[in-house]
Amino acid sequence: MSTGFRFDRLFIGGAWVAPIDGGVRPSIDPATGQPWGDVAYGGARDIDAAVAAAKAAFEGPWRRMPPWERAALLRKFADLYATQVGALAEVETRDNGRAVRESRGDIGLHAQYYHWFASLADKLGGRTIPMDDSVHAFTTRHPVGVVGAITPWNVPLMAAAWKLGPALAAGCTVVLKPAEQTPASSLALAHLFEEAGFPPGVVNVVPGDGPVAGARLVEHPDVAKISFTGEGTTAKTILKAGADTLTRCTFELGGKAPHILFADADLDQALNAATGSAWALCGQSCALGSRVLVERPVYDKVVEAFRARAARVRVGIPLDPATHMGPQAHQQQLEKTLSYVSIGRAEGAELITGGARIDRDGLADGYFVEPTVFAGVSANMRIAQEEIFGPVAAIIPFDGEDEAVSIANSTPYGLAAGLWTRDTGRAHRVAARIEAGMVWVNTYRYIRWSTPYGGVKASGWGRENGIEGLDPFLETKTTIVST
Ligand code: NAD
Repeated sequence: MSTGFRFDRLFIGGAWVAPIDGGVRPSIDPATGQPWGDVAYGGARDIDAAVAAAKAAFEGPWRRMPPWERAALLRKFADLYATQVGALAEVETRDNGRAVRESRGDIGLHAQYYHWFASLADKLGGRTIPMDDSVHAFTTRHPVGVVGAITPWNVPLMAAAWKLGPALAAGCTVVLKPAEQTPASSLALAHLFEEAGFPPGVVNVVPGDGPVAGARLVEHPDVAKISFTGEGTTAKTILKAGADTLTRCTFELGGKAPHILFADADLDQALNAATGSAWALCGQSCALGSRVLVERPVYDKVVEAFRARAARVRVGIPLDPATHMGPQAHQQQLEKTLSYVSIGRAEGAELITGGARIDRDGLADGYFVEPTVFAGVSANMRIAQEEIFGPVAAIIPFDGEDEAVSIANSTPYGLAAGLWTRDTGRAHRVAARIEAGMVWVNTYRYIRWSTPYGGVKASGWGRENGIEGLDPFLETKTTIVST
């Protein structure tokens, strides 16, 4: 393994330990369908050990550490992270097949997320509250305790940064459980926390199966909060499992983002964003514009542009820096995407291009699928309603603002939306009416550490990033003193 990280142990209480009731198993490279390395996974007893370590750290050194020292450690970690972008990108790409140019671009930003949250660690003051003259009231803010961070396979390190950055800045300790399909990069992350000198138990990393390790983390009485990114069905299971312990939850869930192209838009720019967003991460990201809503006067032109641009996407081995799009991250996802191609056809949508598994030399054993475009899609078709998580764009024609808004809001999801128009009044009108946690106007998927991210409706609860991203990890205490 060229990256220098070890993956055959769990990181618990500041030590690399063998699993108690888990084991070590191969992680599959989705570009070849073959194992690329052996990775440790934990069971319920390993999670118990990690929670015990996190609890001891929370009640001990981490709680006693002044916030500016916490911030300094987090900054040191962020600086180390920045030196390891290439190695981390390689690990993540081996695990989930994301084109390495994308992995590098994304992971190259993460250090700044950690830095930004570090800069907030010693500024978490409360406020004073006006009462009558004989009473002084004020609030203070306190970390919630041990956090269970549960992450998905599409963006393991990004999801970890969005959770660990604010959790650690707030003074919480963490047990990170990455998805079973992509466990390695989170163990690489543990190396950097160790090297930065975090007290033992502040960050623990235990890969493992969702229904075993994940479920134990959720039901554990010493876990104060679950910060989860993944599917809605899993979120519902977590909510029920955490009911007895009243475990706080934030959920970043799926999406079916509408990308709305009005006829008066700068079409070149809109198309760059719309096509790029249709196939980024091989379609495996929650905020991609998987529904492309196009105003009728430019509909034919947009459909033709999607066809032409799909042909130019370089699908290939993800570790090759020239590759635009790698494989689907695992076989089940490949099967899911192909099944939606059949569904789209059966529903009467027009398959403009793509739709098949790629079987050319060198790619046939991996989980590669062609960039796919359906046109003539109706808002109520399943391919326009359900999250496919593959490189499948569904182009839906519309007439006017009202229809655009009505189609945009017609799914159970409400994570993100994009709209392109040169009419500022329309931009504000439509943005205000769209049910989504984020709306981009004349840009798409541009986010930073400072911008709150999260969904409404079935896309989740709570926000990550921004000042709001700290709230889920803090409790407010109100003190009222009679003088
Ligand atoms: P998933 O729900 O299958 O798994 C997510 C995590 O939950 C994994 O770590 C898994 O092991 C764990 N898990 C599974 N069952 C569990 C249980 N019973 N108890 C506790 N943990 C359990 O999701 P996925 O397939 O890994 O990820 C894809 C989904 O994530 C998509 O729906 C995507 O839209 C969503 N996502 C959302 C965002 C966002 O910010 N809104 C970002 C990335 C991905």
